[in-house]
Amino acid sequence: MKYIFLLSVLISFSIFSCKPTDPGNSTTTSTTGKPPVKKEEVSVDFNADSAYFFVAKQVSFGPRVPGTLAHGKCADYLLKTLDRFCDTTILQEDDMRSANGKIVHIKNLMGIFNPEAKKRILLAAHYDTRPNADEDKVSPNTPADGANDGASGVGVLLELARQFSKLNTSYGVDIIFFDAEDMGDRRGLSETWCLGSQYWAGNLHKTGYYANEGILLDMVGAKDATFAYEVNSLSFNQPLVVGVWQLGQKLGYGKYFINIDGNPVIDDHQFVQRITGIPMIDIIEYSFMTRSFGEYWHTHDDNMDVIDKETLKAVGHTVLHWTVQRDRNN
Ligand SMILES: [Zn+2]
Repeated sequence: MKYIFLLSVLISFSIFSCKPTDPGNSTTTSTTGKPPVKKEEVSVDFNADSAYFFVAKQVSFGPRVPGTLAHGKCADYLLKTLDRFCDTTILQEDDMRSANGKIVHIKNLMGIFNPEAKKRILLAAHYDTRPNADEDKVSPNTPADGANDGASGVGVLLELARQFSKLNTSYGVDIIFFDAEDMGDRRGLSETWCLGSQYWAGNLHKTGYYANEGILLDMVGAKDATFAYEVNSLSFNQPLVVGVWQLGQKLGYGKYFINIDGNPVIDDHQFVQRITGIPMIDIIEYSFMTRSFGEYWHTHDDNMDVIDKETLKAVGHTVLHWTVQRDRNN
């Protein structure tokens, strides 16, 4: 998405409730038996070529609009790929009503490392694409490729999953690919956005689930992107925002992670934080040109041409190191 709320509007934002359903009817779990590897035996390094491949692969299915064949094929691919790397995978699916009143079948996809660990990190991105490129001046009624708005965050997280599978972290790491983030009404309620994360937060895959910290990635692959402090993230978990930005700068990515306040953004992290209490932050592009997202946003320019490996590397490398630090301090 995302819809940017003015701060004054945000203050009057009301907490919403999600209809509880029985997750037992909608959740499928797969566990793979992987031999344990000692931490000292492996080294990890974020591979931007691999992340780029994962982005391009998603785009190759076509726009991943919920309910379409391309969306279903991409969901299958993502779940299979998570299953290659993670200890456990979970498919959570159900029907929800979208902003236009139609029922949409959503699928949230999870990959889990160390399911029994008490200390946990939640990493997430959305994989759906918006039904229409409604900011496009020429063709606003057809869907865009969603290379950055959708595929980039997932591409980074798949590469992180590949690295975590070598790292054999003792920390619990949960990766979620949320569905139906981008079906919201531009002038409507915030609850019309982020359907997958609202569903997951109200129907947790595991009773009593909690993560100590969470990071959401959204639009993290555009060339020369800048990431400002997302204002809601500061209120949810300011130390984490500042810590991740400082780490990114220390690793040499200061031109990407900039120390200014961006806009408050309605995104999946909001619903996760509000419903579950997990203090989740959002790494999301802030453009000085538009004072919003990049100019490609919700247009047909959001294709592989905007994706740059250096940006994927800046975000992926930073989140990888942050996770390794958490694990080593455990
Ligand atoms: Zn979007």
